[in-house]
Amino acid sequence: MTALLEVEDLRVAYGKIEAVKGISFSVEAGQIVTLIGTNGAGKTTTLRTLSGLLKPLSGKITFDGRPLNGIPAHKIVELGLAHSPEGRHIFPRLTIAENLQLGAFLRRDPAGIAKDIERAYERFPILGERRRQPAGTLSGGEQQMLAMGRALMSQPKLLMLDEPSMGLSPIMMQKIMETISELKAQGTTILLVEQNAQAALSLADHGHVMEIGKIVLSGTGQDLLVDESVRKAYLGED
Ligand code: ATP
Repeated sequence: MTALLEVEDLRVAYGKIEAVKGISFSVEAGQIVTLIGTNGAGKTTTLRTLSGLLKPLSGKITFDGRPLNGIPAHKIVELGLAHSPEGRHIFPRLTIAENLQLGAFLRRDPAGIAKDIERAYERFPILGERRRQPAGTLSGGEQQMLAMGRALMSQPKLLMLDEPSMGLSPIMMQKIMETISELKAQGTTILLVEQNAQAALSLADHGHVMEIGKIVLSGTGQDLLVDESVRKAYLGED
């Protein structure tokens, strides 16, 4: 079986600084794959490149059987690759309903869009209750739900989540992680970038540890959770 996403020897630089130094990994349909690693490891750069926001120096990205190199960002969304960015980037003055609507900006099926907005409200009841309020009034965790709901509005084949647990209370974080599991159970394929290695590896089918632009270790989520070097470096154990 060919993977839904295949990344081969990807290199990305900001000017002379090479942030991603030749990484390869794949995501099979139906899986959760996570990239973990400390600040500056190159995780966000990887997602932004997959989304078409950054141009790679070299390497090959194949999504759903098509090469993505050179394809503009909006086309990549259309092909089914959605990105919920670090820091959420919701529109605080627009209502929750309007934010969700924006996630469907490439779609031309009003009935389908309305149905998917209702699904988002079922999935995240708080968004339904507050649909007419400005999104800026939501708490951090609720804004994360909105960012995920908005990314899902493009009906993605692959959802990329960048640090969904960032800045959340432990309870909220737990809730977001449960939501990610539910999305998987409903058939969404997920590429998850997290600094919270424990949470991400617990959910993931496969994980890759990134350090200064390289993948230094790969394995199943469970294997990495019990790996001694991972436990020392990322799970705060001596
Ligand atoms: P974080 O969790 O902090 O986002 P990360 O693993 O996602 O970490 P990146 O944000 O991809 O890491 O950063 C990788 C490297 O690229 C870092 O050295 C960072 O300083 C550098 N970098 C990121 N964005 C830029 C930019 N716009 N211009 C120059 N260098 C950048």
